[in-house]
Amino acid sequence: MRLIPSGDVRLALFEEGERENPTILLVHGYPDTHRVWDEVAGLLSDRYHVVRYDVRGAGSSGAPRDRRHYSFDHLAADLGAVLDEIGKPRVHLVGHDWGSLQCWEAIGRPGIRERAASFTTFGGPGLDQAAHFLRYGGRREVAGQLARSWYIGAFQLPVLPELAWRGPLPRALARSMRLAEGIEPRQGHPADTLKRDGRNGLGLYRQNFLTRLRTPADPGVEVPVQLIETSRDIFVSPRLLASMRQWAPEFWHRRLAAGHWAQRSHPEAVARMIAEFSAHVDGGASTRSLRRDRVREGRGAYQDRLVVITGAGSGIGRATARAFAAHGAEVVCADLDHESAVRVAEDIGKDFRRTAHAVQLDVASTTAMEEFAGNIAEQYGVPDVVVNNAGIAVAGPFLDHSLDDWRRTLDVNLWGVIHGCRLFARQMVERGEGGHIVNIASLAAFVATRELPAYSTSKAAVKMLGDCLRAELAGHGIGVTTVCPGFVSTAIARNATYVGSDLRELAELGLQRRGYPPERVAAHILRAVHRNEAVVPVNVEGKIGYAMSRISPSAMRAFARLSGVVRNPVVGR
Ligand code: NAD
Repeated sequence: MRLIPSGDVRLALFEEGERENPTILLVHGYPDTHRVWDEVAGLLSDRYHVVRYDVRGAGSSGAPRDRRHYSFDHLAADLGAVLDEIGKPRVHLVGHDWGSLQCWEAIGRPGIRERAASFTTFGGPGLDQAAHFLRYGGRREVAGQLARSWYIGAFQLPVLPELAWRGPLPRALARSMRLAEGIEPRQGHPADTLKRDGRNGLGLYRQNFLTRLRTPADPGVEVPVQLIETSRDIFVSPRLLASMRQWAPEFWHRRLAAGHWAQRSHPEAVARMIAEFSAHVDGGASTRSLRRDRVREGRGAYQDRLVVITGAGSGIGRATARAFAAHGAEVVCADLDHESAVRVAEDIGKDFRRTAHAVQLDVASTTAMEEFAGNIAEQYGVPDVVVNNAGIAVAGPFLDHSLDDWRRTLDVNLWGVIHGCRLFARQMVERGEGGHIVNIASLAAFVATRELPAYSTSKAAVKMLGDCLRAELAGHGIGVTTVCPGFVSTAIARNATYVGSDLRELAELGLQRRGYPPERVAAHILRAVHRNEAVVPVNVEGKIGYAMSRISPSAMRAFARLSGVVRNPVVGR
């Protein structure tokens, strides 16, 4: 550590890593010190020159005697003094909370904007930009943000906030960090100086908020900005953060399933995003995640997302792969039948000029699925969307099903989905950037028949798995959707196994006559991912079956007894 002068205070400055490497300057928020960045700095310092400092009034830096000296002018002068001391022509700025507020302000000022190569912001908007949002944002959006900002009003009161910092506030803060974000206190965070820092830092709120909200400056900035939206941040609303995009000509909107102190709870993800972004701004290639999160007009809804689809060689899988590709995604088409997967991938390349990969895969094999998931992560990255679609049918009465019929059906239809969920959900959780899993169940998940006992059992289990998983993964920003189509005109009846009486011809004809194309199922899947829907019954019989199974389970049981007599309701013979 060394102390550098800035106006009426001396600032504690900390440097790590080789000076020759690109410089990342980490600016902490309120009521933290530079130590809040310990984990992130440790992860970056092998490739970067990492600089941190305690802002005025915090940690080992001095506090101004004059309370007015917490204004943006003084904070910008401090940042300038740090930049002068580092002596690098350009640095990558990273600001959290109040560190973010003051960086947004500083990069609009001559003398600093030329030296900021990029700016990564999280946990705090710019004040000028927020003032614009509060004036011109929708009523509900503004009310949502104001409800999160109640404490800012409380900090304007005299004496009481000071007393709160001397009394219960430090313990309450540590408790809420632990309960809401799972962050345990460690050496350096919260700092030993927390009570004093908390009282000093009230000057930040009192000197800047009201004046700046009343008379905001021009919110536009010229520096490339990466916003990391932390989805469980209790202080800043997603709408306010999203509104920031209009103020920077080059803007990346990243998402992280984390709370306010993401650098403590998810240091790997935060460090990775900072490194990816600064390397790209310095002329390196753009990663797919960065391309995905770049904010630009006219982009496809799934532009640069990686989508993995099993059973993509035919029917619903094929249509879904094509639909995602048509909306900009890079798709992995996996199928037991390699040739059909290759055909689908090649057609996607020709028809939509999108990258598509074909992989031979047996979803029923644990080792094949583990290898597949590992290869995907290694070669293309963590998928944004996984569609567990591969499925087979065995039709006929229960007493005619062999053990092998049961095993095969459950291995493909249920275990294939379990493997897809367990392997890819783990990757998505570890990456921390959210994602979506779609499991293809069926009308058979909730409508019993005498002809499909193994198939229906597997699909009912898939639906329940989806409900359980959705509850568990919601906190990680990962959506789970169960899609339940009725009859769809695909090759499933032709590919099915028939036991007992031979229903092949009847079933094939039935699906063909139904005339419901898999492309319409695909459209439902894309919309469901976009809206994060839980259960999506598709087509008339899918919707009626779903509704009836909830309104009158006994009527559905009566229908199940009839089903063996009528044979096939679609064909009617
Ligand atoms: P399909 O037979 O046209 O396509 C299924 C694809 O899965 C084929 O390409 C097949 O090679 C592949 N596949 C089969 N076993 C596999 C395995 N072990 N590993 C990898 N790939 C495998 O059938 P479809 O109608 O498109 O079915 C897709 C999904 O939709 C299935 O889960 C099915 O149960 C479900 N579904 C279909 C209907 C319908 O009426 N077609 C209705 C409801 C639900």
